[in-house]
Amino acid sequence: MAGGGAIDRPYTYSVGSGLQPQVGQCVIVPLGTGNREELAYVLSLTENPIIPEDLEPAGKPDRDPESGIFQIKPIRAVLDIPPVFDRATASLFCWMAREYLCSLPDALRCVIPTVRIASIRTSVRLSGDLTTRGMRKPSPLAAKVLELLSNAGGEVDLTKIQEAVHSRQLTAAMRQLVKRGQLEIIRSTRQPVEHRLVNCIQLAANAEEIETWLQEKSARRPRQAAVLRAVQELSGEPIAQAELLRRVNCTPSPIKQLLAQGLLRTVAVPLRRNPWPASPQIPLTFSLTPHQSTALETILAGVEEAANQATGLSGVIGPDSPATSSTLLHAPPPACVLLRGVTGSGKTEVYLHAIEETQRRGRQSIALVPEIALTAQMIGIYQARFGARVAVLHSKLSDGERLDEWQRIYRGDVDVVIGARSALFAPTPNLGLIVLDEEHESSYKQDSDPRYVARDAAMERARLVGACVLLGSATPSLEAAWLVDQKRSQLAVLPARIDDRPMPVVDLVDQRVELKENPGHLFSRKLTNAIHERLKRGEQTILFLNRRGFATITLCRDCGYVAHCKNCDVALTYYISSRMLRCHHCQYAVPGPDVCPQCSGANIRQFGIGTEKVEDELVTLCPSARIARLDTDSTSRKGSGQDIVDRFRSGCIDILVGTQMVAKGFDFPNVTLVGVISADTMLNIPDFRAAERTFQLLTQVSGRAGRGDRIGQVIVQTFNPEHYSIRAAARHDWEEFRSLEMPFREEAVYPPFVSLASILATGMDRKLTKDLAEKAGRWLRGPGALESVTVLGPSPAPLSRIKGLYRWHLLLKARDPQVLRTVCRTLRSQLGPSDDSPRLSIDLDPMTLL
Ligand code: ADP
Ligand code: ZN
Repeated sequence: MAGGGAIDRPYTYSVGSGLQPQVGQCVIVPLGTGNREELAYVLSLTENPIIPEDLEPAGKPDRDPESGIFQIKPIRAVLDIPPVFDRATASLFCWMAREYLCSLPDALRCVIPTVRIASIRTSVRLSGDLTTRGMRKPSPLAAKVLELLSNAGGEVDLTKIQEAVHSRQLTAAMRQLVKRGQLEIIRSTRQPVEHRLVNCIQLAANAEEIETWLQEKSARRPRQAAVLRAVQELSGEPIAQAELLRRVNCTPSPIKQLLAQGLLRTVAVPLRRNPWPASPQIPLTFSLTPHQSTALETILAGVEEAANQATGLSGVIGPDSPATSSTLLHAPPPACVLLRGVTGSGKTEVYLHAIEETQRRGRQSIALVPEIALTAQMIGIYQARFGARVAVLHSKLSDGERLDEWQRIYRGDVDVVIGARSALFAPTPNLGLIVLDEEHESSYKQDSDPRYVARDAAMERARLVGACVLLGSATPSLEAAWLVDQKRSQLAVLPARIDDRPMPVVDLVDQRVELKENPGHLFSRKLTNAIHERLKRGEQTILFLNRRGFATITLCRDCGYVAHCKNCDVALTYYISSRMLRCHHCQYAVPGPDVCPQCSGANIRQFGIGTEKVEDELVTLCPSARIARLDTDSTSRKGSGQDIVDRFRSGCIDILVGTQMVAKGFDFPNVTLVGVISADTMLNIPDFRAAERTFQLLTQVSGRAGRGDRIGQVIVQTFNPEHYSIRAAARHDWEEFRSLEMPFREEAVYPPFVSLASILATGMDRKLTKDLAEKAGRWLRGPGALESVTVLGPSPAPLSRIKGLYRWHLLLKARDPQVLRTVCRTLRSQLGPSDDSPRLSIDLDPMTLL
């Protein structure tokens, strides 16, 4: 697999004698007409290469012009770096490229941290005699390149020059300079970083010598003595120089002097950049309830079954080309268990036991959580149980931190990896179990290339390495339910809360009636009373609204003007704290107007509520209460979200107002009231999953109430009290929701009954964007169109313009996911891929159609 460009298939090369490349190793290969050298990774090795005709691009020089036979070119060199992936990983990212239609390099970068991937660096260096005597003057462009180089000390990355000089003639100008002997192009390989070494300080003398020195010289050299004592206290452990300076609070010179006297020495120590220093927590273990035990048995049976299949699998992941892996598709499906347990039923405890049992069998587990930002509690629980055998991975790690965690996992120093979506690719040597907590969460879908669904990728990885997948949720997605229906997953159920604690009582407040009797109030009378009651009793309340800001619409009552974003097709949200109108899709912000910008009238008003407004009214309603808000606005600063959560847990906050952030996974025993300000915000979104999202969010947020020994109450304000998703959520009844939703999906032909592909044209120019979408539509309906694929659209997307780009979309449906992929692949090869505007992007198994 060659590294550069949009390479979407593996290439075949021969291995000359003396070379012994391994799978996952970096090699240098000739590519293209000019046989330019590129870095590539070895995907598979075989004695008998089979190159299907359709995989080799017609007319490429690989084909011998006379015989018409493919000429397999030899590998030029093998880089002296250990392999960065194994065969199963190769199969996994090839699967990803196929399944989600991305390039192989994109898929590789998703699975392997970028710092582990080697690259070729091209730099430009001044050479020879700079005097231009006797030569023609260089072109202005060439002169600029020369000037750039001499300013930069003679050598610069090619990319730097390309950034500084935007010209189509750049290559020609540089070629001219090379010819004149004034420039050299140098290509070197940049090796993947293995780890970072830090210079540390250690004692170099024995205890006796140190004591003598201290006795004799302490008085005259107090700084040196302080340094020496600090190092001595570490009893042999090396300490980073910077840390030592900080502790002793001195300049480097006393350290230098001690080094010179041979009392200290420097050692290079591989640094572990720990992204999540353990917070001390007492490990709690419970003996499992009978339901939990039964669930655990089902899961362990899955782990065993998967392990047995793994032995049978090694023959299947043969040395064939993974991209043509029809062979792989016939490997047995992975073991999978869906753990459906009502909120507070102790799912986490089941995961922990399953992971411990997997550990006992000498295998590792990966536990995925939907959102790492506020999961300190969860990480704390894992660290308390598994101590240093835990690694934490998430997208906000620095390259160094990621690399270090990666190395620990790779070496087998870790039994549990906990993290967000991408932790799925952690290089565990002997993976036994993959847990997806809150399986239904939409953050398990990646919204940029490769647009993978973590659930499906987990299934694929589990299949390749013989692991078991455990999906846990109180409100499983219909896709997960479908897996059970199709016998592709076992089901384990935790039907009740721990200690048979009652589920909270849910009261629906019909806002149609309420607003007639009690107009102009954000909080219904019932909710107001309930809030006051909690404050009196010293119990906590969560108020939930799925919209940020103060007001969602700013409207002129005289002329009908609505404040819109200038880049996006959305109304601006008003923030009272900053008196600004802001767009939630781009950075656009303007001061809130006092008069209408259109008619200059003074009747400009705000409508539509957000969390800021709820907080604001709450302050008036209960002036003595301690109130905080948790949403992406209040948590933009790093750590501020965690701070709010910690203060709420410790009881320093009485009422927490928030968006879906407050719905997720919190276990606060003192919360006895949850108020849903409006259950309708999600219901009105134009998406076939609107009802499912509503049900899930309401059930999850309700689940935050009454987790301690006092019963919880939930008050849901809605204009749609009869809607089945709201009624089912009020009864915490997933079965009921599912039995009503499934027939709708079947009738309207939506997942899980079919696979979807969302095709989106985006561009600066409205007409050209529409044209591209229409062209795609014509192609999809044209000759060769398949009856088994339904095409809807094109039409403007519900968000018809974002960040200045117009958006038109089409939706494809097919029962066979592979047929859908084939059609999309052909479409892309016909109309793209291109980075030009307008461009077409294809999202398979989309999570949103907005
Ligand atoms: P869920 O994830 O299903 O909402 P949790 O895993 O948060 O539920 O468990 C709810 C509470 O019950 C937690 O405080 C947990 O410590 C406790 N718990 C879990 N299992 C047991 C058990 N077997 N015995 C006693 N308490 C338990
Ligand atoms: Zn905008």
